Amino acid sequence: MLIDTHAHLYHARFADDLDATLARAAERGVTAVIVPGSTLEDSRAAVALADRYADTPCALYAAVGIHPTEADSLTPATLAELRELAHHPCVVAIGEIGLDNYWPRIPNRGWPCAEPSQQRVALEAQLALAAELGLPVILHDRDAHADILDMLRDWMHGHPERSGTLHAYAAGPALLPEALALNLYIGMDGPVTFEKAAGLHEVARQAPLERLLLETDAPYLTPHPYRGQRNEPAYVAYVAERVAALKDLAVETIAAATTTNAQRLFRLYSARN
Ligand SMILES: [Zn+2]
Repeated sequence: MLIDTHAHLYHARFADDLDATLARAAERGVTAVIVPGSTLEDSRAAVALADRYADTPCALYAAVGIHPTEADSLTPATLAELRELAHHPCVVAIGEIGLDNYWPRIPNRGWPCAEPSQQRVALEAQLALAAELGLPVILHDRDAHADILDMLRDWMHGHPERSGTLHAYAAGPALLPEALALNLYIGMDGPVTFEKAAGLHEVARQAPLERLLLETDAPYLTPHPYRGQRNEPAYVAYVAERVAALKDLAVETIAAATTTNAQRLFRLYSARN
């Protein structure tokens, strides 16, 4: 049993074969997938998908949020709509939200991405929304490790119930103790399967089993041996295998632990029941 905690299944690259994609995932033992939003439109799409695929062998759940590169779209009206969407029983987190100092322009969009100051305002507002709703957060951190950990430290201070995951963890082994001290989970995906990703291999070895989550970030970050092709939730199995090898544990142990972790963080059993 595996859970893919991050897949953008509303992406156009799944438009023609989502049913078959989810059937392949179920065949590989993927019982649940969390679909995070990155714009208001995506968040609506994520909720619609989770609603439609609620009771399937590979069940979908949603997260709603505005990605840092899109932070300039977070108006009071957008925030109000996110709040409303988040009340849907299939919504298990606010995300993906965070800080991104990498993309000077939004990929595929062409115009400059949101300023760092706008990104901070948007993250602050969405952390507050998560706190208000009692939801965990799915965090996007690209070249903003120290800043994001600072903001999370403030957000979590005095609130042991607040938690989240550093999706596609890329802060390296050095920042791992700090992330773990902050009650955060570590999201591992395709790049850990790459031969040259020594830093990620070290992270996988050092991160305690009870804080690891598996994800694909489909259609992006495709693991070996499918690198270069579209990623999909079934391939989370390759991430599980690689993490198991790095930790010198059985893949079943990794699968069981990461599934329990995802269920705990996102309260998957209570979400729709
Ligand atoms: Zn993502």
